[in-house]
Amino acid sequence: MKAVFLAEEGMVEAGQTLAPIVEEGGALVEMKVAAICRTDLKMVVEGHRDLVLPRILGHEGVGQIIESRNPLFRNGDWVAIYPGLFCGKCFSCRTGHTARCESLKIFGFNEDGVFQTHMNFGQKEMGSLVLLPGTHYDETIALIEPLACCLSGVRKGRDRKGTALIVGAGAVGSIFAALLKSERWDQVVVVDKDIRRLKAELPMGVEPIHSSVKALIPVLRKKGWDHEIDFVVPCCPEGLNWPFWEVMRPGGSVLFFSGGIGGNTMLSVDMNAVHYLELSLAGSYGCDKEDFASASNILAENRIDLSFFDFYCVRLEDVSDGMERLKGHRTKKVIINQF
Ligand SMILES: [Zn+2]
Ligand SMILES: [Zn+2]
Repeated sequence: MKAVFLAEEGMVEAGQTLAPIVEEGGALVEMKVAAICRTDLKMVVEGHRDLVLPRILGHEGVGQIIESRNPLFRNGDWVAIYPGLFCGKCFSCRTGHTARCESLKIFGFNEDGVFQTHMNFGQKEMGSLVLLPGTHYDETIALIEPLACCLSGVRKGRDRKGTALIVGAGAVGSIFAALLKSERWDQVVVVDKDIRRLKAELPMGVEPIHSSVKALIPVLRKKGWDHEIDFVVPCCPEGLNWPFWEVMRPGGSVLFFSGGIGGNTMLSVDMNAVHYLELSLAGSYGCDKEDFASASNILAENRIDLSFFDFYCVRLEDVSDGMERLKGHRTKKVIINQF
């Protein structure tokens, strides 16, 4: 049994793990497909608020149950792994917000993650498994977790399907755009200063804008989107470093979907614009179990088109190679499809 560990900052290595013993009520999952997220990369390079070392990385993955001791799951079932262990009892859990659980443990952060051949779930951890209906899936199924995070974000923003502006055309920006297209928003605009990210692996029907955030306002005005943006979603750390309120429609909303980096998290916002335009500012981190189950269904039933991705696929032991690829922005998404 193999796993990919982050032993210390900057040191990713493949190693062996012990054969697990499946407890009564639990199940053993053989990993089938996983995805490397930029957050994994960030953890290797600069650490993360929720990271505890040494750690098996990875929080985006799907597998197959090979030993079930739980009546709700059978051997051979495909399961998506909700990336957290939540208590189910605290105020947040009781109100459906498992991502805010007071004692949340996140796979790949403060619990061992999905970059391993097998994951053992005890009886109390079975709430992290979501049963998939089919018997075989392609690589795209590994995107359930990032899609669920986008769904969680959309739910926190205003549900007015007008014009959305996504800043950053990386993997998550592209998944977010595909989700809004599948929900039939009037217009989905994606901005990036890197022309390569706009030219490749972007969903059909979105409006790409090549611009830095600093130069964005005049570009949007020229396109006729002055005071017509209903929803702003930053999918990169600099995504809100511009006076977004100047082009927003009254009643619009802004989703703080990406955090800042390098301790630079302060933002100046025009209070009067938020006040008079009645803008909503919402934060989003991770995804609730319910959104994760919805994302599982959407992907399992092909209700979203993510075929624009040109995945770079690696074996489990080649995670470092995949991370280098991501670091160099040579691909949007790296998938592990051989364990
Ligand atoms: Zn992720
Ligand atoms: Zn809880």
